[in-house]
Amino acid sequence: MVIVYSAILLGGLGFAFGLFLSYVGEKFKVEEDPTVMLVLATLPGANCGACGYPGCEGYAKAIVDNGDRPDKCLPGKKSGAEERIKEILSKRNSN
Ligand code: SF4
Repeated sequence: MVIVYSAILLGGLGFAFGLFLSYVGEKFKVEEDPTVMLVLATLPGANCGACGYPGCEGYAKAIVDNGDRPDKCLPGKKSGAEERIKEILSKRNSN
């Protein structure tokens, strides 16, 4: 009988913690701007810091949220990242 009670107790605890985690996940969900994700995908991802930001994600957020210039990524110059970022931003602004 102890095994049955233990299984019921642990099952109930697991269910309660699952509900709690589900609630917390929804309550503290962080909304990501899809434009930041597009700009981030355009950058080379070297996280070298040459743009003056600690990584590519910080630079992508600065471009989209603060209007920073899209020509600061030195490794991305050869691959045409600047032009693609300008294209993404122009599409965003036209919507
Ligand atoms: S310079 Fe380019 S590759 Fe380097 S961290 Fe900045 S965005 Fe990333």
